[in-house]
Amino acid sequence: MTPDYEKAWSDLNVRLRAVEQGSGLVSAMQELETFHLRSGFIRDDLQDVERRAFYHPDDRTRFFRVQYNPRRAQRFAGSGRSHERHISSNDGCFLCRDNIELQQQGNQLGYQIESGDRSYFALTNPFPLLPVHIVIASREHIPQEWGFRDPAGLGADVLMRDAVAFADRMPGHVVFYNGVDAGASIPRHLHFQCVARPGNEGPFPLEVAAEDAGGQVDGPGMVARYPLEAAVWKGPAADVTARASDWVVRWGARNRRRLDDLSANIIASRAQDGEGIVLYFVPRSRSHQRPAGFSGLIGGLEVLGEIVLSSPDDKARLDAGAIDYFVLEAILASVSTPIETG
Ligand SMILES: [Zn+2]
Repeated sequence: MTPDYEKAWSDLNVRLRAVEQGSGLVSAMQELETFHLRSGFIRDDLQDVERRAFYHPDDRTRFFRVQYNPRRAQRFAGSGRSHERHISSNDGCFLCRDNIELQQQGNQLGYQIESGDRSYFALTNPFPLLPVHIVIASREHIPQEWGFRDPAGLGADVLMRDAVAFADRMPGHVVFYNGVDAGASIPRHLHFQCVARPGNEGPFPLEVAAEDAGGQVDGPGMVARYPLEAAVWKGPAADVTARASDWVVRWGARNRRRLDDLSANIIASRAQDGEGIVLYFVPRSRSHQRPAGFSGLIGGLEVLGEIVLSSPDDKARLDAGAIDYFVLEAILASVSTPIETG
């Protein structure tokens, strides 16, 4: 890294550390976002995003949201990314710090945060889905793949622990891990994502469906009346981590024979009332990762019930009234896989 970049990074970290110590991690993340909005690195202030809810005709507690986000379609062009692979680390990995300076011409700075067990860099997303859309990338270049499939990846229990550790410090936000073939767009480097809950729109559809699912003691509750099978734990952070970690290791052993086809979304947030943590585990089939007739990937936000549309075709369908509750339910149902079999 150049001395100038090193200094800018270090100055920002000193400043954000003081913000975090004074008013918490959410304030530090908001400040990181403000910094990159002002610099122009974040290309979308989300003013163009349209969000609509579609309710079940007979039951207003069942609904999905659609977000039409035209800027999102540009994200694979990157934000001024250059591809200087010949002088970069790990084949130009977008989440390795040595490459970030080159690829983003020094415009992106990260904030180092600890999960308790390891270090991460919080990085703003140039094409956000929601306010405070932060990528929490491992400081080390380790794979996104979980340990069930790649011994170099973190175990599912460790992924849950780190997701809960960050969520516990981010009230009003949702932290998620998208497994490989379950929405992860950068499979080579471990990362979580964090988003703020959308303004005035209340909980996500999965959160509403999980309200009476149990999961406060012992094993997980199972979310009913939702197109995806989801296990849920609720309670104090340490208790949720202990129960869920224990469960997922045994789940892996029970499902050994189909594990090669499985990935997952892991989602954690502070409970809506602020008391404790809610943690979701949604297994995903690698052979059914892309629903028919839908242009996007199904990642953590879609699993929560907010479907991101970004193509002109999607917009035309939305405007023509061709999207309703049942269309959205079918999109999610088409990637559902059972938590247990046999
Ligand atoms: Zn990397």
